[in-house]
Amino acid sequence: MDSKFQSVLEKASLQQDLSKDDIVILLEAKPGEEQQELFKLADSIRIKNHGDVVHLRGIIEFSNYCRNDCYYCGLRRSNTKIRRYRMTVQQVVNAARQAVNLGYNTIVLQSGEDPWYDVDTICQMISRIKEIKDVAVTLSIGERSKKEYLMLRQAGADRFLLKHETADEKLFMKLRPGTNFTHRLRCLKWLREAGYQVGSGNMVGLPGQSLQSLAEDILILKELDVEMAGIGPFIPHPHTPLAGVPAGDFNLVLKTLAVARILLPLAHLPATTAVGTLHPRGRQVALQCGANVIMPNVTPREFRRFYEIYPNKAGTLEDPKQSLQKITDIIKEVGRDLAKGRGDSPKFKTS
Ligand code: SAH
Ligand code: SF4
Repeated sequence: MDSKFQSVLEKASLQQDLSKDDIVILLEAKPGEEQQELFKLADSIRIKNHGDVVHLRGIIEFSNYCRNDCYYCGLRRSNTKIRRYRMTVQQVVNAARQAVNLGYNTIVLQSGEDPWYDVDTICQMISRIKEIKDVAVTLSIGERSKKEYLMLRQAGADRFLLKHETADEKLFMKLRPGTNFTHRLRCLKWLREAGYQVGSGNMVGLPGQSLQSLAEDILILKELDVEMAGIGPFIPHPHTPLAGVPAGDFNLVLKTLAVARILLPLAHLPATTAVGTLHPRGRQVALQCGANVIMPNVTPREFRRFYEIYPNKAGTLEDPKQSLQKITDIIKEVGRDLAKGRGDSPKFKTS
Protein backbone atom coordinates (compact mmCIF):
# COMPACT_ATOMS: atom_id res chain seq x y z
CA MET A 1 0.00 0.00 0.00
CA ASP A 2 1.24 3.44 -0.91
CA SER A 3 2.36 5.26 2.25
CA LYS A 4 0.51 8.47 1.38
CA PHE A 5 -2.67 6.51 0.81
CA GLN A 6 -2.16 4.67 4.08
CA SER A 7 -1.76 7.86 6.07
CA VAL A 8 -4.91 9.46 4.58
CA LEU A 9 -6.88 6.27 5.22
CA GLU A 10 -5.71 6.33 8.82
CA LYS A 11 -6.78 9.96 9.13
CA ALA A 12 -10.17 8.95 7.70
CA SER A 13 -10.54 6.08 10.15
CA LEU A 14 -9.94 8.51 13.02
CA GLN A 15 -12.72 10.67 11.57
CA GLN A 16 -10.43 13.63 11.12
CA ASP A 17 -11.37 16.25 8.53
CA LEU A 18 -10.20 15.39 5.04
CA SER A 19 -9.03 18.03 2.57
CA LYS A 20 -9.81 17.96 -1.14
CA ASP A 21 -6.32 16.59 -1.80
CA ASP A 22 -6.84 13.85 0.79
CA ILE A 23 -10.10 12.86 -0.90
CA VAL A 24 -8.40 12.72 -4.29
CA ILE A 25 -5.79 10.36 -2.82
CA LEU A 26 -8.58 8.08 -1.56
CA LEU A 27 -10.31 8.20 -4.96
CA GLU A 28 -7.02 7.13 -6.54
CA ALA A 29 -7.03 3.88 -4.51
CA LYS A 30 -5.55 1.13 -6.65
CA PRO A 31 -7.38 -2.17 -7.25
CA GLY A 32 -6.33 -4.78 -4.69
CA GLU A 33 -5.30 -3.91 -1.16
CA GLU A 34 -5.91 -0.14 -1.34
CA GLN A 35 -9.45 -0.46 -2.63
CA GLN A 36 -10.24 -3.31 -0.26
CA GLU A 37 -9.11 -1.28 2.74
CA LEU A 38 -11.11 1.75 1.59
CA PHE A 39 -14.27 -0.34 1.13
CA LYS A 40 -13.69 -2.06 4.47
CA LEU A 41 -13.53 1.25 6.30
CA ALA A 42 -16.68 2.53 4.56
CA ASP A 43 -18.50 -0.71 5.38
CA SER A 44 -17.52 -0.51 9.05
CA ILE A 45 -18.80 3.09 9.26
CA ARG A 46 -22.06 1.96 7.63
CA ILE A 47 -22.48 -0.87 10.18
CA LYS A 48 -21.73 1.40 13.11
CA ASN A 49 -24.21 4.11 12.10
CA HIS A 50 -26.94 2.19 10.29
CA GLY A 51 -26.60 -1.44 11.34
CA ASP A 52 -27.30 -4.43 9.14
CA VAL A 53 -30.58 -3.25 7.64
CA VAL A 54 -31.46 -1.83 4.24
CA HIS A 55 -34.15 0.82 3.80
CA LEU A 56 -36.44 0.53 0.80
CA ARG A 57 -37.91 3.53 -0.99
CA GLY A 58 -40.58 2.72 -3.57
CA ILE A 59 -40.26 5.04 -6.55
CA ILE A 60 -43.17 6.12 -8.76
CA GLU A 61 -42.03 7.77 -11.98
CA PHE A 62 -45.20 9.72 -12.67
CA SER A 63 -44.25 11.79 -15.73
CA ASN A 64 -41.48 11.62 -18.31
CA TYR A 65 -42.17 15.07 -19.75
CA CYS A 66 -39.32 17.50 -19.11
CA ARG A 67 -38.79 21.15 -19.92
CA ASN A 68 -35.02 20.79 -19.59
CA ASP A 69 -32.52 19.56 -22.11
CA CYS A 70 -29.78 17.94 -20.02
CA TYR A 71 -27.21 16.41 -22.37
CA TYR A 72 -26.97 13.19 -20.38
CA CYS A 73 -30.65 12.33 -19.97
CA GLY A 74 -33.03 10.40 -22.18
CA LEU A 75 -35.99 12.46 -20.94
CA ARG A 76 -34.49 15.71 -22.31
CA ARG A 77 -37.04 17.73 -24.25
CA SER A 78 -35.18 17.42 -27.56
CA ASN A 79 -35.51 13.65 -27.53
CA THR A 80 -38.45 13.14 -29.87
CA LYS A 81 -37.95 9.37 -29.92
CA ILE A 82 -39.59 8.60 -26.58
CA ARG A 83 -43.29 8.21 -25.92
CA ARG A 84 -44.27 10.72 -23.27
CA TYR A 85 -46.78 9.94 -20.52
CA ARG A 86 -48.30 11.63 -17.50
CA MET A 87 -49.97 9.65 -14.72
CA THR A 88 -53.14 11.09 -13.18
CA VAL A 89 -53.40 11.77 -9.45
CA GLN A 90 -55.61 8.70 -9.18
CA GLN A 91 -53.05 6.51 -11.00
CA VAL A 92 -50.30 7.78 -8.70
CA VAL A 93 -52.41 7.13 -5.59
CA ASN A 94 -53.25 3.62 -6.84
CA ALA A 95 -49.57 2.88 -7.43
CA ALA A 96 -48.74 4.21 -3.96
CA ARG A 97 -51.47 2.04 -2.39
CA GLN A 98 -50.06 -1.02 -4.08
CA ALA A 99 -46.60 -0.12 -2.78
CA VAL A 100 -47.91 0.43 0.75
CA ASN A 101 -49.65 -2.96 0.58
CA LEU A 102 -46.35 -4.52 -0.43
CA GLY A 103 -44.84 -3.05 2.76
CA TYR A 104 -43.13 0.16 1.60
CA ASN A 105 -42.83 2.92 4.19
CA THR A 106 -41.42 5.56 1.84
CA ILE A 107 -42.88 6.60 -1.50
CA VAL A 108 -40.71 8.64 -3.86
CA LEU A 109 -42.53 10.69 -6.49
CA GLN A 110 -40.17 11.38 -9.37
CA SER A 111 -40.63 13.03 -12.76
CA GLY A 112 -38.98 15.15 -15.39
CA GLU A 113 -39.29 18.86 -14.72
CA ASP A 114 -42.91 19.07 -15.73
CA PRO A 115 -44.75 22.30 -14.87
CA TRP A 116 -47.96 20.77 -16.31
CA TYR A 117 -48.40 19.51 -12.73
CA ASP A 118 -49.15 22.64 -10.76
CA VAL A 119 -48.32 22.72 -7.10
CA ASP A 120 -51.91 21.99 -6.04
CA THR A 121 -51.97 18.78 -8.07
CA ILE A 122 -48.77 17.54 -6.44
CA CYS A 123 -50.10 18.60 -3.02
CA GLN A 124 -53.15 16.44 -3.74
CA MET A 125 -50.94 13.46 -4.58
CA ILE A 126 -49.08 13.92 -1.30
CA SER A 127 -52.11 14.30 0.94
CA ARG A 128 -53.96 11.40 -0.68
CA ILE A 129 -50.92 9.15 -0.24
CA LYS A 130 -50.72 10.21 3.40
CA GLU A 131 -54.38 9.21 3.85
CA ILE A 132 -53.46 5.63 2.94
CA LYS A 133 -50.87 5.40 5.72
CA ASP A 134 -48.33 7.61 7.44
CA VAL A 135 -45.58 6.74 5.00
CA ALA A 136 -42.77 9.16 4.24
CA VAL A 137 -43.14 10.99 0.93
CA THR A 138 -40.06 12.07 -1.00
CA LEU A 139 -40.27 14.38 -3.99
CA SER A 140 -37.80 14.36 -6.89
CA ILE A 141 -39.36 16.76 -9.36
CA GLY A 142 -36.56 19.23 -10.00
CA GLU A 143 -36.45 22.98 -9.57
CA ARG A 144 -39.49 24.89 -8.30
CA SER A 145 -39.99 28.23 -6.55
CA LYS A 146 -39.34 28.71 -2.86
CA LYS A 147 -43.06 29.20 -2.30
CA GLU A 148 -43.89 25.94 -4.06
CA TYR A 149 -41.31 24.02 -2.03
CA LEU A 150 -42.96 25.41 1.10
CA MET A 151 -46.46 24.51 -0.04
CA LEU A 152 -45.41 20.96 -0.91
CA ARG A 153 -43.78 20.60 2.48
CA GLN A 154 -46.93 21.89 4.19
CA ALA A 155 -48.97 19.34 2.23
CA GLY A 156 -46.90 16.65 3.95
CA ALA A 157 -43.84 15.97 1.79
CA ASP A 158 -41.05 14.85 4.12
CA ARG A 159 -38.01 14.69 1.89
CA PHE A 160 -36.75 16.11 -1.36
CA LEU A 161 -34.10 14.74 -3.69
CA LEU A 162 -32.37 17.28 -5.92
CA LYS A 163 -28.97 16.16 -7.09
CA HIS A 164 -26.39 18.88 -7.69
CA GLU A 165 -25.20 16.51 -10.49
CA THR A 166 -21.63 17.83 -10.67
CA ALA A 167 -19.60 20.32 -8.64
CA ASP A 168 -17.81 21.40 -11.81
CA GLU A 169 -19.68 24.60 -12.59
CA LYS A 170 -18.46 24.81 -16.19
CA LEU A 171 -19.47 21.22 -16.84
CA PHE A 172 -22.83 21.84 -15.18
CA MET A 173 -23.54 24.81 -17.47
CA LYS A 174 -22.49 22.84 -20.54
CA LEU A 175 -24.50 19.73 -19.74
CA ARG A 176 -27.59 21.49 -18.39
CA PRO A 177 -28.25 24.32 -20.86
CA GLY A 178 -30.54 27.03 -19.55
CA THR A 179 -29.97 26.10 -15.90
CA ASN A 180 -27.26 27.23 -13.54
CA PHE A 181 -25.30 25.82 -10.68
CA THR A 182 -25.76 28.75 -8.31
CA HIS A 183 -29.50 28.47 -8.66
CA ARG A 184 -29.36 24.71 -8.08
CA LEU A 185 -27.60 25.35 -4.77
CA ARG A 186 -30.14 28.08 -3.96
CA CYS A 187 -32.94 25.54 -4.47
CA LEU A 188 -31.17 23.17 -2.07
CA LYS A 189 -30.97 25.97 0.49
CA TRP A 190 -34.71 26.67 0.10
CA LEU A 191 -35.43 22.98 0.63
CA ARG A 192 -33.38 23.03 3.81
CA GLU A 193 -35.18 26.15 5.05
CA ALA A 194 -38.56 24.58 4.29
CA GLY A 195 -37.68 21.73 6.67
CA TYR A 196 -37.24 18.84 4.28
CA GLN A 197 -34.85 15.98 4.82
CA VAL A 198 -32.62 16.94 1.93
CA GLY A 199 -31.07 14.61 -0.60
CA SER A 200 -28.56 15.60 -3.24
CA GLY A 201 -25.84 13.79 -5.15
CA ASN A 202 -23.88 13.51 -8.35
CA MET A 203 -23.08 11.35 -11.31
CA VAL A 204 -19.70 9.69 -11.74
CA GLY A 205 -18.08 9.50 -15.17
CA LEU A 206 -19.44 12.59 -16.91
CA PRO A 207 -17.21 13.57 -19.85
CA GLY A 208 -14.44 15.86 -18.69
CA GLN A 209 -15.08 15.26 -14.98
CA SER A 210 -11.88 15.16 -12.92
CA LEU A 211 -11.09 13.43 -9.62
CA GLN A 212 -10.74 16.93 -8.14
CA SER A 213 -14.30 17.74 -9.09
CA LEU A 214 -15.52 14.41 -7.70
CA ALA A 215 -13.77 15.34 -4.45
CA GLU A 216 -15.63 18.67 -4.55
CA ASP A 217 -18.90 16.77 -5.07
CA ILE A 218 -18.33 14.98 -1.79
CA LEU A 219 -17.33 18.19 -0.02
CA ILE A 220 -20.50 19.91 -1.26
CA LEU A 221 -22.60 17.05 0.10
CA LYS A 222 -20.80 17.44 3.42
CA GLU A 223 -21.29 21.22 3.38
CA LEU A 224 -25.00 20.78 2.63
CA ASP A 225 -25.09 18.27 5.47
CA VAL A 226 -27.45 16.13 3.36
CA GLU A 227 -29.63 13.46 4.87
CA MET A 228 -29.30 11.46 1.67
CA ALA A 229 -26.84 11.33 -1.23
CA GLY A 230 -27.48 9.61 -4.55
CA ILE A 231 -24.18 8.76 -6.19
CA GLY A 232 -24.27 6.68 -9.34
CA PRO A 233 -22.59 6.19 -12.70
CA PHE A 234 -23.37 8.21 -15.78
CA ILE A 235 -24.79 5.82 -18.39
CA PRO A 236 -24.96 7.08 -22.00
CA HIS A 237 -28.33 7.23 -23.70
CA PRO A 238 -28.32 6.69 -27.49
CA HIS A 239 -30.73 9.56 -28.19
CA THR A 240 -28.71 12.26 -26.44
CA PRO A 241 -25.62 14.30 -27.38
CA LEU A 242 -23.56 12.09 -25.02
CA ALA A 243 -24.47 8.88 -26.88
CA GLY A 244 -20.86 8.00 -27.71
CA VAL A 245 -19.37 8.75 -24.30
CA PRO A 246 -18.32 5.72 -22.19
CA ALA A 247 -20.27 4.96 -19.02
CA GLY A 248 -18.84 5.80 -15.61
CA ASP A 249 -16.20 3.40 -14.30
CA PHE A 250 -17.63 0.85 -11.86
CA ASN A 251 -14.67 0.97 -9.49
CA LEU A 252 -14.66 4.76 -9.42
CA VAL A 253 -18.37 4.76 -8.55
CA LEU A 254 -17.67 2.39 -5.65
CA LYS A 255 -14.74 4.48 -4.45
CA THR A 256 -16.80 7.69 -4.58
CA LEU A 257 -19.57 5.98 -2.65
CA ALA A 258 -17.11 4.68 -0.05
CA VAL A 259 -15.51 8.10 0.47
CA ALA A 260 -18.98 9.67 0.73
CA ARG A 261 -19.81 7.16 3.47
CA ILE A 262 -16.64 8.09 5.33
CA LEU A 263 -17.41 11.82 5.20
CA LEU A 264 -21.17 11.45 5.72
CA PRO A 265 -21.53 8.72 8.33
CA LEU A 266 -25.20 9.48 9.08
CA ALA A 267 -26.47 10.01 5.53
CA HIS A 268 -28.62 7.49 3.72
CA LEU A 269 -26.74 6.29 0.65
CA PRO A 270 -28.59 4.27 -1.97
CA ALA A 271 -27.11 1.46 -4.00
CA THR A 272 -28.51 3.12 -7.13
CA THR A 273 -30.45 1.49 -9.94
CA ALA A 274 -27.78 2.94 -12.26
CA VAL A 275 -25.01 0.96 -10.52
CA GLY A 276 -27.22 -2.14 -10.84
CA THR A 277 -27.55 -1.37 -14.55
CA LEU A 278 -23.80 -0.89 -15.02
CA HIS A 279 -22.87 -4.20 -13.40
CA PRO A 280 -25.03 -7.30 -12.76
CA ARG A 281 -23.99 -7.38 -9.09
CA GLY A 282 -23.63 -3.61 -8.83
CA ARG A 283 -26.13 -3.10 -6.05
CA GLN A 284 -24.83 -6.00 -3.97
CA VAL A 285 -21.29 -4.64 -4.18
CA ALA A 286 -22.43 -1.05 -3.49
CA LEU A 287 -24.17 -2.28 -0.32
CA GLN A 288 -20.75 -3.54 0.77
CA CYS A 289 -19.04 -0.22 0.05
CA GLY A 290 -21.14 2.03 2.26
CA ALA A 291 -24.66 1.99 0.79
CA ASN A 292 -27.67 1.26 3.03
CA VAL A 293 -30.71 2.06 0.85
CA ILE A 294 -32.33 0.65 -2.29
CA MET A 295 -35.01 2.38 -4.35
CA PRO A 296 -37.08 -0.29 -6.09
CA ASN A 297 -39.35 0.80 -8.89
CA VAL A 298 -43.08 0.72 -8.07
CA THR A 299 -44.20 2.46 -11.27
CA PRO A 300 -46.93 0.44 -13.02
CA ARG A 301 -45.39 -1.78 -15.68
CA GLU A 302 -47.30 -0.06 -18.52
CA PHE A 303 -45.37 3.20 -17.93
CA ARG A 304 -41.97 2.20 -16.68
CA ARG A 305 -40.34 1.36 -19.99
CA PHE A 306 -40.94 4.93 -21.14
CA TYR A 307 -39.10 6.44 -18.18
CA GLU A 308 -35.81 5.88 -19.92
CA ILE A 309 -33.35 8.29 -18.30
CA TYR A 310 -30.65 5.87 -19.50
CA PRO A 311 -31.04 2.59 -21.44
CA ASN A 312 -31.50 -0.95 -20.09
CA LYS A 313 -32.48 0.37 -16.68
CA ALA A 314 -32.55 -2.50 -14.20
CA GLY A 315 -36.11 -3.67 -13.48
CA THR A 316 -37.79 -2.17 -16.55
CA LEU A 317 -39.57 -5.40 -17.50
CA GLU A 318 -40.82 -6.23 -14.00
CA ASP A 319 -43.98 -5.31 -12.13
CA PRO A 320 -43.78 -3.83 -8.60
CA LYS A 321 -44.14 -7.23 -6.92
CA GLN A 322 -41.37 -8.80 -8.99
CA SER A 323 -39.08 -5.81 -8.38
CA LEU A 324 -39.59 -6.16 -4.64
CA GLN A 325 -38.82 -9.90 -4.77
CA LYS A 326 -35.62 -9.26 -6.68
CA ILE A 327 -34.48 -6.57 -4.27
CA THR A 328 -35.34 -8.73 -1.26
CA ASP A 329 -33.09 -11.43 -2.75
CA ILE A 330 -30.27 -8.92 -3.24
CA ILE A 331 -30.56 -7.84 0.40
CA LYS A 332 -30.53 -11.45 1.64
CA GLU A 333 -27.58 -12.27 -0.59
CA VAL A 334 -25.43 -9.72 1.25
CA GLY A 335 -26.68 -10.90 4.66
CA ARG A 336 -28.84 -7.90 5.53
CA ASP A 337 -32.44 -7.51 6.62
CA LEU A 338 -35.19 -5.20 5.48
CA ALA A 339 -35.44 -2.19 7.76
CA LYS A 340 -38.68 -1.58 9.63
CA GLY A 341 -40.32 1.85 9.87
CA ARG A 342 -40.01 4.91 7.67
CA GLY A 343 -36.24 5.13 7.81
CA ASP A 344 -36.05 8.85 8.47
CA SER A 345 -32.62 10.34 8.83
CA PRO A 346 -31.12 9.69 12.28
CA LYS A 347 -31.00 13.52 12.52
CA PHE A 348 -34.81 13.77 12.16
CA LYS A 349 -36.42 11.88 14.99
CA THR A 350 -39.88 11.37 13.52
CA SER A 351 -39.73 7.60 13.85
N1 SAH B 1 -35.96 15.81 -13.27
C1 SAH B 1 -35.54 15.64 -11.93
C2 SAH B 1 -35.62 14.21 -11.42
C3 SAH B 1 -35.53 13.12 -12.45
S1 SAH B 1 -33.93 12.86 -13.11
C4 SAH B 1 -34.13 16.16 -11.76
O1 SAH B 1 -33.42 16.26 -12.75
O2 SAH B 1 -33.77 16.47 -10.62
C5 SAH B 1 -33.20 11.91 -11.80
C6 SAH B 1 -31.71 11.73 -11.90
O3 SAH B 1 -31.37 10.92 -13.00
C7 SAH B 1 -30.90 12.99 -12.12
O4 SAH B 1 -30.68 13.65 -10.91
C8 SAH B 1 -29.61 12.46 -12.74
O5 SAH B 1 -28.56 12.37 -11.78
C9 SAH B 1 -29.98 11.04 -13.17
N2 SAH B 1 -29.64 10.81 -14.58
C10 SAH B 1 -30.10 11.47 -15.66
N3 SAH B 1 -29.51 10.98 -16.79
C11 SAH B 1 -28.67 10.01 -16.40
C12 SAH B 1 -27.77 9.13 -17.10
N4 SAH B 1 -27.65 9.19 -18.42
N5 SAH B 1 -27.05 8.26 -16.38
C13 SAH B 1 -27.18 8.20 -15.04
N6 SAH B 1 -28.01 8.99 -14.32
C14 SAH B 1 -28.74 9.89 -15.00
FE1 SF4 C 1 -35.15 16.57 -17.13
FE2 SF4 C 1 -34.09 15.65 -14.83
FE3 SF4 C 1 -33.56 14.48 -17.21
FE4 SF4 C 1 -32.56 16.88 -16.74
S1 SF4 C 1 -32.08 14.98 -15.59
S2 SF4 C 1 -33.58 16.22 -18.65
S3 SF4 C 1 -34.18 17.79 -15.51
S4 SF4 C 1 -35.51 14.56 -16.18
